[in-house]
Amino acid sequence: MKKTALITGIIGQDGAYLAKILLAKGYHVYGLMRRYATPQFNNTDYLGITKDIEFVFGDMTDESSILNLIKSLRPDEVYNLAAQSFVGISWDLPKMTTEVNSLGVMYMLNALKLFSPQTKFYQASTSEMFGNSHKDGLQTEQTPFHPRSPYAISKLYSHWLTINYRESYNMFCASGILFNHESPIRGMEFVTRKISHGVAQIALGLAQEIRLGNLDSKRDWGFAGDYVEAMWLMLQQEKADDYLISTGETHSIRDFLQIAFAHVGIQDWEKYITIDPRFKRPAEVFALHGKSDKAREKLGWVPKVKFEELVKMMVDADVARLKHKMADKKYSSVKTPVVS
Ligand code: NDP
Ligand code: GDP
Repeated sequence: MKKTALITGIIGQDGAYLAKILLAKGYHVYGLMRRYATPQFNNTDYLGITKDIEFVFGDMTDESSILNLIKSLRPDEVYNLAAQSFVGISWDLPKMTTEVNSLGVMYMLNALKLFSPQTKFYQASTSEMFGNSHKDGLQTEQTPFHPRSPYAISKLYSHWLTINYRESYNMFCASGILFNHESPIRGMEFVTRKISHGVAQIALGLAQEIRLGNLDSKRDWGFAGDYVEAMWLMLQQEKADDYLISTGETHSIRDFLQIAFAHVGIQDWEKYITIDPRFKRPAEVFALHGKSDKAREKLGWVPKVKFEELVKMMVDADVARLKHKMADKKYSSVKTPVVS
């Protein structure tokens, strides 16, 4: 019998990459998506897997939809990736962020407890929960949390609720504290994709500038394709636990810009950047740098894609996509909406 997995957030970045590896491992994959008048399958299309997923409708904010789905599917594994995942907008949408990221997880855990307590559950936690907290510049599973945004606060609730269901009901509930991970299908508003897309536009003569906020913050950026493998490994262990997933390298936005522009032959990148205070945050997380020794030792997980390769992969993908759209005469410039 095929193993079954339900992935919430299936049409997001990680949902698509995770579905790809689960399908390759022989799983039957259910993908929870919201109802749209015009659904977008760009990410699963990009990875060539849309037809292999069984899509099911639901919404993390609609408890009855979660209860009904769990009652009817009773999957072997649930990967809860659905979220309002963008920190920047969370100051403008704190209620919606909390409803999806906190209450949605409570609905899911409760549904599993009632109808499928043997299901293994993965919660998508985040390095944003650390805020500016660190020891000697590094974060580990032991670093105290100090969330700095409504997003991070909503995720801290669900991180602790996941642990609480494990401790209260002996359910298999694991939480992955993942550091930033990117790919050619990363959301357009995140700084990496904004840069790769902006650089591609500039290289093709379609734009003259990229408007950004704080260039000095640092992130431990990895490749989404590597990180979803860690999610799966967490659910294959005998006992549920929490693991921090990171590359162990940290880089600034300036480093990202320099490599991305150099890749299209532009060295003097500063002249294409306009600092726009509207992209600065009310409270910044200045530097994230994770130590993922536990995951490497216990899960045998190692990230494969290095930082420079990731930047180039993203720029190449955006250049290719734009060229394709231009050839089809379907190009239209995308302006990132301003937040806060
Ligand atoms: P994305 O934003 O790409 O995907 C999130 C998905 O959640 C989207 O498919 C979205 O669907 C869905 N979603 C949002 N609200 C609801 C809802 N009410 N009901 C059902 N589905 C909903 O995020 P990523 O793939 O990058 O991230 C996956 C998870 O990992 C998220 O929980 C994120 O917070 C977390 N995370 C991500 C990190 C990263 O660097 N990528 C780092 C650490 C944690 P729709 O199109 O309908 O909005
Ligand atoms: P986050 O780590 O989940 O918040 O991922 P983001 O990619 O959204 O932001 C990473 C860092 O880039 C943060 O420190 C932002 O303040 C910084 N940054 C600078 N300019 C921008 C911008 O224009 N957009 C975004 N999204 N982030 C920016």
